[in-house]
Amino acid sequence: MVKLPIYMDNHATTPMDKRVLDAVLPYFTEKFGNAASRNHSFGWAAEEAVDKARNQIAALINAKAKEIIFTSGATESDNLAIKGVVEFYKDKGNHVITCVTEHKAVLDSCKALERAGKATVTYLPVDKYGMVDPDDVRRAITDKTVLITIMSANNEVGTIHPIAEIGRIAKEKGVLFHCDATQGVGKIPMDVEKAGVDLLSASAHKIYGPKGVGILYVRSRGPRVRLTPIIDGGGHERGLRSGTLNVPGIVGFGAACEIAGQEMEQESARLRDLRNRLQANLFERLDEIYLNGHPTERLPGNLNLSFAYVEGESLLMGIKDVAVSSGSACTSATLEPSYVIRALGTDEELAHSSIRFGLGRFNTAEEVDYVAERVTAEVRRLRDLSPLYEMAKEGIDLKSVQWKRD
Ligand SMILES: *Cc1c(COP(=O)(O)O)cnc(C)c1O
Repeated sequence: MVKLPIYMDNHATTPMDKRVLDAVLPYFTEKFGNAASRNHSFGWAAEEAVDKARNQIAALINAKAKEIIFTSGATESDNLAIKGVVEFYKDKGNHVITCVTEHKAVLDSCKALERAGKATVTYLPVDKYGMVDPDDVRRAITDKTVLITIMSANNEVGTIHPIAEIGRIAKEKGVLFHCDATQGVGKIPMDVEKAGVDLLSASAHKIYGPKGVGILYVRSRGPRVRLTPIIDGGGHERGLRSGTLNVPGIVGFGAACEIAGQEMEQESARLRDLRNRLQANLFERLDEIYLNGHPTERLPGNLNLSFAYVEGESLLMGIKDVAVSSGSACTSATLEPSYVIRALGTDEELAHSSIRFGLGRFNTAEEVDYVAERVTAEVRRLRDLSPLYEMAKEGIDLKSVQWKRD
């Protein structure tokens, strides 16, 4: 018997790995020092732990330790990268290039700059698999462009962008390249040198580390990237991010990165197998289901499906012992379909029927089989209640039906 509830929403957050917890715990109690206390052993112990973590994180992305700036998470890192570059390079230009399926931390940072009159932003489209075309990036560059910001892998559909190609174009044109790699780091290889990335955001809680700690990688040479800080204070982190360091969080992020680096290859193979098993299982048993995202260039643990004639939210309600995510953001007044799924050109109905399965380190084959069974049963039950599904099965083209209004 599987243990319920089952957590299969690992793009939203991940449970902390017990090995990470063991590394973190002493830094709450006996090793509680402030890493900025230069005049006693408590401070030195904390500083040493932070240095170690900085090296562990840098190693995972092939950066240098001094290029890692600690933040409160990827949301802050995205804000610092985008607002910090635009502010610092304002005499050089004011144009930013991003894409429509970025995380809100990127999109809303761009929108805030537009509202403030500090930047003009090009939002590139994606193809039906959610992938941005590097040629579109090239064509969008003007002599006013100061930043390209494109994510490594999408948090909803898992599509992996051609980052190295975009990095090459950015280098060629002398434009800085920021990559929100929050979903990619620790799951797929990321090398800031090979990929030509100048700034990179990542977050501990997406890779089995603690919540509330992130990094911004800031390239120091070729080119040396400059930023205007968004938080002022004691001048921590080379003046780019003031505030007492979250030492336990940072130690946890370091440990999480070391484990991810050691286990990535076998873990991603295992997750890909589990994900493919879930996908095959559902496609075998159900008709009219559709894959959202790229068939191959996709995060190993990601499966985003639309179940036609079924509301994603209703499906979630019916499988309460399984934690997955629907593509509709439930706000007070409206049920908006996901802007990411819509950007792939998916029609509104199918966007409303999308479910994201996010498999992670602690999921098992037994859980996958249980989830496939529960989802199949619930989709069948909901479709049995759906007059539209019945009409479609009878061969009626729903798009041609003239619906009568009262
Ligand atoms: C989770 C996530 C973020 C936000 O990270 P936090 O550390 O929770 O602020 C940003 N970008 C992407 C792609 C994410 O998946």
